[in-house]
Amino acid sequence: MDYLPLFFKLTNQDVLLVGGGNVALRKARLLCRAGAKVTVISHRVCDELQQLLDANQGVAIIGEYHSALLDNKMLVIAATDDNELNERVHFDAVENNTPVNVVDSPKLCTFVFPAIVDRSPVVIGISSGGSAPVLARLLRARLETWIPKSYGKLASIANHFRDQVKQKFSTVNHRRVFWENVLQGQIAEKVFAGRESEAIRLIETKLTNEDPEHQVGEVYLVGGGPGDPELLTFKALRLMQQADIVLYDALVSEAVLDLCRRDADLVFVGKKRDNHAVPQEGINELLVKHAKLGKRVVRLKGGDPFIFGRGGEELETLKAHNIPFQVVPGITAASACSTFSGIPLTHRNYAQSVKFVTGQLKNRTSDLNFDELVHPNQTVVFYMGLHTLPVLSQKLIEHGKPSDTPVAIVSRGTSADQKVLTGTLKNITELQEKAQLPAPALIIVGEVVSLHENLSWFGEEVLAQNLSPVKAEQ
Ligand code: SAH
Repeated sequence: MDYLPLFFKLTNQDVLLVGGGNVALRKARLLCRAGAKVTVISHRVCDELQQLLDANQGVAIIGEYHSALLDNKMLVIAATDDNELNERVHFDAVENNTPVNVVDSPKLCTFVFPAIVDRSPVVIGISSGGSAPVLARLLRARLETWIPKSYGKLASIANHFRDQVKQKFSTVNHRRVFWENVLQGQIAEKVFAGRESEAIRLIETKLTNEDPEHQVGEVYLVGGGPGDPELLTFKALRLMQQADIVLYDALVSEAVLDLCRRDADLVFVGKKRDNHAVPQEGINELLVKHAKLGKRVVRLKGGDPFIFGRGGEELETLKAHNIPFQVVPGITAASACSTFSGIPLTHRNYAQSVKFVTGQLKNRTSDLNFDELVHPNQTVVFYMGLHTLPVLSQKLIEHGKPSDTPVAIVSRGTSADQKVLTGTLKNITELQEKAQLPAPALIIVGEVVSLHENLSWFGEEVLAQNLSPVKAEQ
């Protein structure tokens, strides 16, 4: 280990910063965040730095650096573009036994600034010892995404209960188990969701209750996105990795499912068209049953749970049984398929609005208001419309939509076998009969589809001229 990581208490401590430009400003911001009193010495001090100093009991001295400025300083930082000056600061500081950092010159540093993940009071510093600062920053970016913003709050709440927990549990081991349960799982999730008072109440119950395991669990209704696991939200991923049980739909991809906690029970409750594995009421009951057993239940759905996902109905049942829940949005098929096929859903020249519509029709006659769907300058996106495509396109034409309106079918959007077929209202049914693109597929109707030719960037193109004629039925 070339450097020992230490955390400096800088509150009200004097620190010298040599330099008054942008680099100095960045360092000054950090120092001020830690409560230091910063003295800047420089021939010029940029306005922003001056304002920062004014607001944080700092001072700027306009003039020449000299070694006497080091007296009584806890740290010194040189952030100038004058190498000779930087070196002088270094040697003076070493002589004076003052820790010194010269920006971008590891050799002249007796301490280095780590990349910081700040969830105060929890702070993480990452250092490559000056050898690859970019690597440290990349690592930081990963941690930033992985550690919820309100982690610090969790630490403060834990601190609040420290003495009580010590009193209640006499052994270190018992305390450790208690804290592990609190700091990951339901209570932590309450804090991350901004429900601190509920979290505090749960800790209090846990501390007084002889059998804290006898508590009701929680249901997380999670949008699993369109298939590509990289399109999950951080929150979705975190909750999936905490689940005791996952109830998932047919639309949830293998790759997404793979990211659930290894020990979780995975239960398929998916619905394929006209073939319900578990009827909706059954799913509602399952959610209630497992939550009442104290489990953390993830209800994982394709796309967004509130868009053609019946998420609302499931939550109503939970509400009726007083089971706590959280909902995590997911990227819905319309967003995913449009971006991954290079078809913007709105565009200044072509469409000022977009409608998400179900293509499922009762008894093959439409309960949709087609008069509304044929307005010009609007994009219409049909979910669940693949099998009703002939009726949909015919009805749109009958209600006045020009038959040459561009249409796209995006099949298995965002997956490795995504396919896009484009045509017009008039010929899309015939093209799809030949192409036989598989479900799930989304249908996009509107002028914006014409942008696909130019903006397509992902997956395979299905070209109309390569399609063979429809095979005669055997
Ligand atoms: N809640 C989901 C939609 C459920 S309805 C969401 O927000 O995306 C199911 C329909 O969504 C399918 O019939 C299909 O039209 C569409 N769909 C879902 N995932 C898709 C995908 N990866 N590619 C294309 N269409 C998809």
